[in-house]
Amino acid sequence: MGGNEINYVKEAFDTNWIAPLGPHVDGFEQDLEAYTGAAHAAVLSSGTAALHLALILLGVDPGDEVITSTFTFSATVNPIAYLGAIPILVDSEAATWNMDPELLETAIKDRLKKGKKPKAIIPVHLYGMPANMERIMDIATRYDIPVVEDAAEALGSRYRDKAVGTFGLMGILSFNGNKIITTSGGGALLSDKEELIVKSRFLATQARDDAPHYQHSEIGYNYRMSNIAAGIGRGQMEVVDKHIALRRDIHEYYKKHLSPVDGIIFLQEPGEAYFSNHWLSCITVDPTRTGGVTREDLRLALADENIEARPLWKPMHLQPVFKDHPFYGNGTSEKLFETGLCLPSGSNMTEEDRQRVIKVLLKKLS
Ligand SMILES: *Cc1c(COP(=O)(O)O)cnc(C)c1O
Repeated sequence: MGGNEINYVKEAFDTNWIAPLGPHVDGFEQDLEAYTGAAHAAVLSSGTAALHLALILLGVDPGDEVITSTFTFSATVNPIAYLGAIPILVDSEAATWNMDPELLETAIKDRLKKGKKPKAIIPVHLYGMPANMERIMDIATRYDIPVVEDAAEALGSRYRDKAVGTFGLMGILSFNGNKIITTSGGGALLSDKEELIVKSRFLATQARDDAPHYQHSEIGYNYRMSNIAAGIGRGQMEVVDKHIALRRDIHEYYKKHLSPVDGIIFLQEPGEAYFSNHWLSCITVDPTRTGGVTREDLRLALADENIEARPLWKPMHLQPVFKDHPFYGNGTSEKLFETGLCLPSGSNMTEEDRQRVIKVLLKKLS
């Protein structure tokens, strides 16, 4: 927390706005619009809820197909399943670890050949690294398929100086406890199309028709963010750039000390077009070049010192629950899962904490 969050929450109490609507909700939405450049934003109960609503707004029905990244957190894919639609999983490119544009086009062509046009494409900006949005948008536009960006981990990340989450028809953010900023739990839907955001607010508040009594013509959801949570969000927006600077600094620190080691490869911005918030600093470990030291060796060496580090996301096509869905692969995400490690990256890490992590890793690698 930055400090001002408690004042916004107190203001909500003092003015008795303890509701899923109120001035902080409007204020937080305006803050997000100003920060990302999206024309409109709706703050919601979670990033998952935002994705669910985005797919509903696109008219995704049972049996429809939605293309997404296999290399992601399950929350990207679950909302497709909520609607009875079929996730079509696409592998990663080596440069960004995100959706491989070439495989995306292969997948689209193959689905069209099988007689079905995908209803949406959900690229993910994993670990804060922007996906190759120029090529993905070019392909999506050519085949006329709407894009919903999963920018849950990437608030503040930019591609060609434009915020991720604002390239597609819609984008989603998450403010879950582990993300770059948090409202304890929450999310947002972004779009330049006002009618989509207005409709998302309607669906998120139980789809109440405009009548003095409770009248419903559509199925609704209870997905709005509370005025309390939005108050925390407003405070967090005052420190988001500080959080990003800290995360980027941690990344630079790790890179400085580990890059010289043969066989340690960082997920890093592949070119000028990319600006990552470096939500997490991630590496892969090539045991053929580290003298046999594996990712697991490093993870366990850290665990021995009571330092938690986790493997990268396990790809969705390897998950028991999604393993039978169509998958277009090139081996990249499986390799990342096998060899990858997320290093401790919290915004609250001290200089001493970082030094401890590096000391343990270098000792194991020497
Ligand atoms: C966290 C996350 C989500 C879901 O956000 P919640 O707010 O936790 O529902 C979706 N996609 C990715 C890639 C995430 O990391």
